[in-house]
Amino acid sequence: MTSRIKGFYLLSVEERIKLIAEQSNLTNEEVEALKSGLPLELADAMVENVIGHISVPLGVAANFKVNGKEVFIPMATEEPSVIAAASNAARAAYELGGIFTSSSGTVMRGQIQVLNIGDPHGARAKIFEHKDEIIEHCNAKDPTLVKLGGGVKDIEVHLIDTAKETMVVVHLIVDTKDAMGANAVNTMAESVSPLIERITNGRVVLRIISNLADKRIVRARGEFSTDMLGGMEIAKNIVSAYEFADADPYRAATHNKGVMNGITAAVLASGNDTRAVEAGAHAYAARTGRYRSLTTWELNKEGNLVGTLELPLAVGIVGGATKTHPVAKAALKIMGVQSAEELAGYIAAVGLVENLASLRALSAEGIQSGHMRLHAKNLAVMAGATGDIIDRVVQQAVEEKDFRYDRILEITNSLRGE
Ligand code: NAD
Repeated sequence: MTSRIKGFYLLSVEERIKLIAEQSNLTNEEVEALKSGLPLELADAMVENVIGHISVPLGVAANFKVNGKEVFIPMATEEPSVIAAASNAARAAYELGGIFTSSSGTVMRGQIQVLNIGDPHGARAKIFEHKDEIIEHCNAKDPTLVKLGGGVKDIEVHLIDTAKETMVVVHLIVDTKDAMGANAVNTMAESVSPLIERITNGRVVLRIISNLADKRIVRARGEFSTDMLGGMEIAKNIVSAYEFADADPYRAATHNKGVMNGITAAVLASGNDTRAVEAGAHAYAARTGRYRSLTTWELNKEGNLVGTLELPLAVGIVGGATKTHPVAKAALKIMGVQSAEELAGYIAAVGLVENLASLRALSAEGIQSGHMRLHAKNLAVMAGATGDIIDRVVQQAVEEKDFRYDRILEITNSLRGE
């Protein structure tokens, strides 16, 4: 299997599906799911008041080698250029070994807020005295997770000073293994609360997972050929673009948005919770008290560009929609993932490479020229172009270097009238 297929982007949709289906051993049913998406009955079972579903294009990012494994990474996004950018930038790492990832584990935090405590330090000590009982109580709630080696492993007690009082906040430190874990952790937090109230003589109010999953950190690293990126001047501009983002929150927000273009698309394709991952990523970016870059970019002694990305990635391969949404199931099969940590590694790899693609464009020709062709395609469709007329409209707009909607509408109307 190889993810480096020359001219992959030039194939028709049918040809691409056939190739991916062959490489990933997709069944006819899975291929059908890719083409037709979510059945309405399933949508009705997933959320409330269903009246339909909104489709987002699903593509695959090519040219990825992650920890030595060739992989096509499914991405669901409505934004033009995102998948092409990831596939292009991944090529610059491919020959130098690809992307390498590591993970701190699959551990989440559940928070239990205890109020009306006169002696917060005393309450904290008492909670630790009952640590084993608390852990046992929680783990009894999820024997499946415990059998898999997961469950509550430890507790922490944080004293949080607020305007009115010092709150005692118990953290359940839960290994949720291949699940994202929110339901598992929330169930434990709710069930153990009466015990926490008895121990502390306080009043428990909130009992919920924290999306700042700082015990579920994923790191990605890649070395990128400076020549393939357009030379040393562009590579130096990329480094200074990173330094700009790391020092200035206005720039960092957009810089990290570029990272999340890749991450959110891959998270969505795998049926995971995009909001949970985004909340965690941005909270982590602000962990020093200032909102900073999630990535770093440096030049090594060999003159290659080295990028790293570090963020919390709470994603699962069981639970949530991962095992119910037929397209998500096919996406996981395309990547051949065996664990939540492996999936998180692929997602982080896309995030790193996506960031490089935007920085490269910004440091060289600007992002608009790459965007305009796809933007013209969207405008052509909006103007009513269909079939091969879409490409002809785009071609003419590119030749004229005119991407105004009124001109695209004129071109579309004249070609449709032929
Ligand atoms: P889940 O409860 O559907 O699945 C997890 C359960 O699956 C575990 O408790 C375990 O009993 C079982 N399981 C079977 N095989 C497993 C394996 N190999 N590894 C781990 N567990 C295994 O889902 P979840 O992952 O606990 O929760 C995810 C859902 O919670 C998402 O849909 C998310 O949107 C939602 N959610 C998120 C938040 C938040 O992020 N703040 C809050 C509430 C709900």
